[in-house]
Amino acid sequence: MGVPSEDAYTRFVSAGFGRDLAKRLGLPQPAVLRRYSPHQPLLTGPVLVLGFSQQADAVASALLDWDLDVRRHATPKEKLGAMVLVLDDLSHPSDLAGPVLAAGASLRDLAASGRVVTVARDAAEASDPAAAAARAGVEGMLRSLAKELRAGATGNGIILHGEVDPSSASALGALRFLLSARSAFVDGQFLSVSIPEAVLPEDWERPLAGRVAVVTGAARGIGASIARTLHRDGARVIVVDVPAAGEQLARVANELSGTALQVDITAENAGDRILEHAGQRYGRLDIVVHNAGITRDKLLANMDPVRWNSVIAVNIAAQLRMNEAFLTSELFTDRPRIVSVASTSGIAGNRGQTNYATSKAGVIGLVGATARLLEPRGGTINAVAPGFIETDMTARMPFATREVARRLNSLQQGGRPEDVAETVAFLASGGAAGITGRTVRVCGQNLVGK
Ligand code: NAD
Repeated sequence: MGVPSEDAYTRFVSAGFGRDLAKRLGLPQPAVLRRYSPHQPLLTGPVLVLGFSQQADAVASALLDWDLDVRRHATPKEKLGAMVLVLDDLSHPSDLAGPVLAAGASLRDLAASGRVVTVARDAAEASDPAAAAARAGVEGMLRSLAKELRAGATGNGIILHGEVDPSSASALGALRFLLSARSAFVDGQFLSVSIPEAVLPEDWERPLAGRVAVVTGAARGIGASIARTLHRDGARVIVVDVPAAGEQLARVANELSGTALQVDITAENAGDRILEHAGQRYGRLDIVVHNAGITRDKLLANMDPVRWNSVIAVNIAAQLRMNEAFLTSELFTDRPRIVSVASTSGIAGNRGQTNYATSKAGVIGLVGATARLLEPRGGTINAVAPGFIETDMTARMPFATREVARRLNSLQQGGRPEDVAETVAFLASGGAAGITGRTVRVCGQNLVGK
């Protein structure tokens, strides 16, 4: 387990006098979230699988194969670790009442940090308006339900595209992530699964065994946490940062028995230098995590070219240039994975961040268009969009702004660097083989944007 780093308020209201006081005054009561650590059980109690289709039975039997305690009907008063609503056969919004109301009747029995996951087909691919209405309805229902859950429980969904069935390997890979404590700060989100085939990890504790990963901006903060998490999951890791951060970078590399490469990612040859390093040390490169990023906030009326250009150069132009090198390299051909760190600012916009939001929205555009280029290599590319994460970057915010910002989500707290890292590690693993060109928010269902 990592060092407990809940903010002081969360610690105060999670027990004893503080909890009673917060309840009486109607103050936010953030829960201490159950986070992933190796060898912990996947869930804290039985999983209730709701839905009437054959696929619902198939999902229930796949969950049994993971040694979960599976129920097809609720047992009164039994604490549940999770509920999975398999809704792949909807043809009209009236079909929703059965499974959704059954889930509602069991909600009070959901354990702390429990999970509700819906599995449904993409509304845009429905053949008639009634089916599209039912499928789209699932999204509205789930996003609202996620806002009603308490005690660290989360609600997320899987959207199936094309021929992907709920029990196909790639959908199960996504389901396992959403059920697990790896997704502690992912809430109110949908994972789109568009490729049915997946080679699921043989060892779920080390899903990245044998893989070689590079993480940019890894000397500290979220990047260092991503490097640690990829290493924990079995990858060999190359950490990259600017020469000025060389000492810190070397410390991270040593801790992970990895290698450090001092390079400014805005350099023309940054991609080639990473490939050269990976080739010499490991003979391959499988996972690229574009994490390095900077902010240079100013209202647009006061924006100067240096602030604007530096943010575009580091946060988006460097990624575009490096990807060109990776995508033509022979080292990067065995089911390669690229994961880029975007931001909710790139989705919702943020006052004072026109430059940053341009770059981060650019990242979301980049992954959408690069997915096609990686397909022939059996590769995927996705983005992770963190909301408020407790790092040096956010610690510098004025107290009141920070306190408001970290409560503006369904879990009423900021995320931790590890939360972003867990989603990055998932997207880099075989479990996410069906997901490409997408952006996954790690924001506790932040109120901004979609
Ligand atoms: P941080 O400032 O603590 O770390 C960023 C790292 O990137 C530093 O080590 C820095 O030296 C490195 N870096 C900067 N420019 C570089 C360059 N040209 N070449 C190589 N390395 C470079 O930031 P963080 O909070 O850990 O953020 C990491 C990523 O997450 C960034 O992309 C950031 O935009 C994004 N993000 C953070 C938050 C948050 O709440 N902290 C929210 C949304 C998105």
